[in-house]
Amino acid sequence: MNITAPLIALRRMGKVSPHSIDDFIANQGFEGFKKALHISPSEVIAEVEKSGLRGRGGAGFPTSMKQQFTATSCSTCTTRYIVCNADEGEPGTFKDRMIMETDPFVLIEGMMIAGYAIGAHYGYIYIRGEYESSIQNLSNAIKQAYEKGFLGKNILGSSFSFEMDIFLGAGSYLCGEELTLIESLEGKRGYPRIKPPFPAEKGLWGLPTLVNNVETFAHLPFILEKGYEQYASIGTAESKGTKLFCVSGKVKKSGVFELPLGVTLRSLIFDTAGGMKDGYQFKGALLGGAAGTFVDETMLDVPLAYETLKQKGATLGSGAVIVVDNKTNMKEMMQSILSFFKHESCGKCVPCRIGTTLLYNKIHQTTLNEEDLNWMLEQALYMQRNSLCPLGQSPILPIKSVLTYFKTELL
Ligand code: SF4
Repeated sequence: MNITAPLIALRRMGKVSPHSIDDFIANQGFEGFKKALHISPSEVIAEVEKSGLRGRGGAGFPTSMKQQFTATSCSTCTTRYIVCNADEGEPGTFKDRMIMETDPFVLIEGMMIAGYAIGAHYGYIYIRGEYESSIQNLSNAIKQAYEKGFLGKNILGSSFSFEMDIFLGAGSYLCGEELTLIESLEGKRGYPRIKPPFPAEKGLWGLPTLVNNVETFAHLPFILEKGYEQYASIGTAESKGTKLFCVSGKVKKSGVFELPLGVTLRSLIFDTAGGMKDGYQFKGALLGGAAGTFVDETMLDVPLAYETLKQKGATLGSGAVIVVDNKTNMKEMMQSILSFFKHESCGKCVPCRIGTTLLYNKIHQTTLNEEDLNWMLEQALYMQRNSLCPLGQSPILPIKSVLTYFKTELL
């Protein structure tokens, strides 16, 4: 496949100053938003639908559908919200940070387009408190956008008004889950809410709220500016556009790479990331971070797209690709993953509170046998079926996949 498609989320990286709105404007900044203002909100949503954009947070839910639900739910509500999930806590994932540090204005523009599309006049960016550079860049970008009249009342002389603010999170993994994030944004402890209702119906302060992550918003300006055809021409049949992949592990060039969806793992690791470091061999990869799935070399030529990975029982998740080399001890890797889940469990529901500790204790046993591994699988399955939020539902993914590909290494 052609992996030289245009950059979308990172198209201005290194070309313009992230501190200058004038630079941004001189490089097609706000052109997508201006085009949106010339069509109706429903036409904006239709454009996004035709582009095929799916949420880049992990689940791959169609972005236009989320916009449509939020725009039309609660006919009596006069206030709707846009919330940007910039709480990037998945281990091995650092892509949203790259956007915010190199082009914070593209996020602002994307949120403005989404706000116009769903009839929202307030946008909040919920961001990890540790992301100091991102926070500084965004704060500066928002200030400049107000000064230039791109935020505030009657933007560019239109009837559309949009206000924006930043909210700092305290570094809880769970607050990356949309309803937990909303609880935290409301000033409460970051505990998940029971779904449904979904945020589109009852989100921030009980009002319709569109929650997307940074990468998803960063695609909207391109779609509106260039048209859905150009966007939809990139990627695969069901996974359109580009994706930011965060490659870490013993590769020659680790980092964030923007490539069309459908690129193979082989191409990502051996072409883009330069292959394995000297002295190391490829053994496998963990796709999607701690809450993701392991694959081995038999998956190297499977396209990294939502539909193809699903068929193989794997996930794309947030785009993290943690490369596993021949010197990595899989038991130690699983110990690290299950320590993470135990640490981050909020304790609200029993299956996860007890289950994460049981799994942690089991994987730390000096020796494991077949019976132990089957027990872990059953325990994780029980947690998947009975836990309230994605944290407790997720350990099954790394456990099941590690047993599929690397079981003998745990015994
Ligand atoms: S699944 Fe875990 S993290 Fe989620 S609510 Fe239950 S205890 Fe908390």
